[in-house]
Amino acid sequence: MKTLRLLLGDQLNRQHSWFEKVDGDVLYCFFEMRQETDYVQHHLQKVIGFFAAMRAFAEELREVGHSVVYVKLDDEDNRQSLEGNLLFLIKKHGLQRFEYQLPDEWRLDVQLKEFCGKLDIEAAAFDTEHFMTKREAIQEFFGKKNYLMETFYRDIRRRHGILMEGGKPVGGQWNFDAENRKKMPKEHRPPEPLLFEKDLSDIAEMIDKAGVKTIGTVDAKHFIWPTNREESLELLAYFTQNLLEHFGDFQDALTPEYWALYHSRLSFALNTKMISPLEVVQQAVQEWEGRKDEISIAQVEGFVRQIIGWREYMRGIYWAKMPAFAQLNFFGHQRKLPGWFWTGNTKMACLRHAIGQSLQYAYAHHIQRLMVTGNFALLAGIHPDEVDAWYLGIYIDAIEWVEITNTRGMSQFADGGIVGTKPYCSSANYIDKMGHYCNGCYYDKKLRTGENSCPFNSLYWDFYDRHRDKLENNPRIGMMYRTWDKMAPEDKEGILKQAAVYLENIASL
Ligand SMILES: Cc1cc2nc3c(=O)[nH]c(=O)nc-3n(C[C@H](O)[C@H](O)[C@H](O)COP(=O)(O)OP(=O)(O)OC[C@H]3O[C@@H](n4cnc5c(N)ncnc54)[C@H](O)[C@@H]3O)c2cc1C
Ligand code: SF4
Repeated sequence: MKTLRLLLGDQLNRQHSWFEKVDGDVLYCFFEMRQETDYVQHHLQKVIGFFAAMRAFAEELREVGHSVVYVKLDDEDNRQSLEGNLLFLIKKHGLQRFEYQLPDEWRLDVQLKEFCGKLDIEAAAFDTEHFMTKREAIQEFFGKKNYLMETFYRDIRRRHGILMEGGKPVGGQWNFDAENRKKMPKEHRPPEPLLFEKDLSDIAEMIDKAGVKTIGTVDAKHFIWPTNREESLELLAYFTQNLLEHFGDFQDALTPEYWALYHSRLSFALNTKMISPLEVVQQAVQEWEGRKDEISIAQVEGFVRQIIGWREYMRGIYWAKMPAFAQLNFFGHQRKLPGWFWTGNTKMACLRHAIGQSLQYAYAHHIQRLMVTGNFALLAGIHPDEVDAWYLGIYIDAIEWVEITNTRGMSQFADGGIVGTKPYCSSANYIDKMGHYCNGCYYDKKLRTGENSCPFNSLYWDFYDRHRDKLENNPRIGMMYRTWDKMAPEDKEGILKQAAVYLENIASL
């Protein structure tokens, strides 16, 4: 045995060229470590999901003849850190070479580079062969110019010939957003989400026994997330066959009745690399091609845009802007997240539901993350470090490269406009327009002031007023200030006073 190859928990790519042939001189290793369970407080389902997927992948490799060392969290030999475990194995097996796949997270990239720098055996890093673009793609593509998702997305579509016809986008346009994003009619019933029902209580018990601090709950006897490639492919097939037809229509819809709507819930399978972005979009396009009478181009384009547009773009931004990105705080926000972000115990119906389902399923869909929880955190002036730690912990799909760019960038505008051209925020108006939360809420969506006025309404204007110097000259926002300036001074004063009361009493909203 000569070479040690490391596989991290989000490097479960069975299609990788490493596995094309069995080599008796290669030893693969996987580690469940406190280093990874403790760098942020994760949702219990996230820790279980990662460990179960790693175990399943290690087993698959063994079954086809690869040599594998799998170190469980409670193994006696576990050094609980990457360096400790790697050095232990290198010494134990007399290994002469170390290889790893390029990590997607900055902290692991630095850690592994430093580790290799100190090693007295040869070391090499390999691509993960998962993404459709390179780490450096954004910088190479845009140079110093603004990073526009749309331009990047079109380029990927052209290069891979996805939804293209004679060099032109299928359907004659690149973007069908105007046809998507509808409110879901009250009586509309989306299909039930496909849930797996595996008994992973042994992993849950091990985590509990080790004293790992986690967020949220789990029914470990009926674990719902895919933890191997077959299940990931099953989830993909379920999505294309049952959900794609309304994906775009209800992509931004909000409702307390359903937690997954027409979303694919493929982010965990994708981010652990059990399936690849290319196969996901190809399957969606293939389904659309076979059922054009049932699935409109707007649905499939809307989906493809998320995967090869937003997902690849966010990864590019991460590598172009880290590590400085993790320190950005454009608005200088300092407030702490209120405690109810960990319980869902708030009178605000939209937040109660979005947080409640996040605790229950380790999942919320994009608009819940952006326009409910993220919107509130932005308007309330929460420190981006606090917001990042919450998002990085609570979601099953949260890995820093895609979490921080979405949270600190898209949602909190803490990057001052690298990801988005203006902050994504709204009053109750948008939340009501897109969903069914407001009617059952303790607060009144129409009121800006008074005891039961919706907090989003006063906090919205307070946010714009507080940050006038930073936002007024943004051409996409100017209108907002003109509306604000036209309001009667006593109305403005009342709104700002109401916002101050709410911020003072944020813990009991
Ligand atoms: C504040 C905030 C934090 C987020 N944190 C994460 C995170 O930690 N991990 C994560 O994977 N996504 C994150 N997202 C993006 C998006 O919300 C999730 O990818 C999506 O909700 C996952 O559910 P789904 O698989 O059902 O997605 P669908 O709605 O079915 O979309 C399909 C796929 O498109 C990709 N996608 C969609 N939107 C984005 C986006 N904005 N950025 C990158 N990929 C996207 C995902 O891979 C997703 O699986 C975040 C968004 C916001 C606003
Ligand atoms: S009234 Fe306000 S707090 Fe209540 S659900 Fe609507 S937006 Fe949320």
